[in-house]
Amino acid sequence: MIQDFLDHFVVVQGWLLDAFVMPALLALGLGSLVEPAFDGIEFFLFGVLQLAIAYAILRPLESWRPVEHWPDRKAVRVDVLYTFLDRLGVIPLAVFALLAPVVMSIDGWLRFHDIIPPQLEDAFPALETHPLVSFLIYLVVIDFFEYWRHRLSHTVRWWWALHVIHHSQRQMSLWTDSRNHLLDDLIGGAWFALVALLIGVPPGHFVGLLLAVRIVENLAHVNARISFGRIGEQLLVSPRYHRWHHAVDCPPGERFRFGCNFAVLFPIWDRLFGTQHLAEALPATGVSAPELADPRQADHFWRQQADGIAGLVRALRGREG
Ligand SMILES: [Zn+2]
Ligand SMILES: [Zn+2]
Repeated sequence: MIQDFLDHFVVVQGWLLDAFVMPALLALGLGSLVEPAFDGIEFFLFGVLQLAIAYAILRPLESWRPVEHWPDRKAVRVDVLYTFLDRLGVIPLAVFALLAPVVMSIDGWLRFHDIIPPQLEDAFPALETHPLVSFLIYLVVIDFFEYWRHRLSHTVRWWWALHVIHHSQRQMSLWTDSRNHLLDDLIGGAWFALVALLIGVPPGHFVGLLLAVRIVENLAHVNARISFGRIGEQLLVSPRYHRWHHAVDCPPGERFRFGCNFAVLFPIWDRLFGTQHLAEALPATGVSAPELADPRQADHFWRQQADGIAGLVRALRGREG
């Protein structure tokens, strides 16, 4: 069944390339981009699939067992906008266009100097014939770096000025996943691409790894009372686990000065690096900064983007941000 699905998927992917994307690229004299465009279509189709999952599974889950009831869902709307821009490829395409030349020149520089990043398959040739095992190992390594990216975005003051936009939502829902400052998206994309380059992620794994991260992240934000069970909650980041990351004053105490539960996929990193908080309760989400509760900021895309830049500039100038 999965094979059938993938076969159909590739047919649609090829059709979109032949019918729309390739003629447009050729007309624009961008024939060299046909190959990345083919991957881009895969990414776009998975985005459409993720939106379908959001409406068919995650949204009903939120109606069935909501953690919070909101008579007025106006504040959620801006997160829906972020999600559509993200899933339909508007933001990823801009990030790709800005990053591809940089990543390619770093790749070229490394090759020119005969620096070939070590590949897992070189150290363990047996992995060549076990793509699933190799995929899972890459996933764990990528997630380790994602943990540190996320943790740094809370501790470096100018970075927090951007990441706080993700945390300023008090009505956290499945849509909040994509609510990020555009510059934060760009830095996150660069981080992911560089890590993938340096640890030698095979091109065939790239989109799959990105999707695995995005699917778990999406589920982690749902406004629903679901539990992965005692053991499951320790193995994979659950909505409860990530809710504590979004808690207003994420649990008080010196131990968690910059927050807790930074893990993106595997809670093990928080456990190893002393940032884990496990609790039964489901706390209120948001940040305590009064200006971020301002309704004019709360539901306005461009206002959030402008405030993020203003906070970044303040932080870089060394003033209170
Ligand atoms: Zn965070
Ligand atoms: Zn989050």
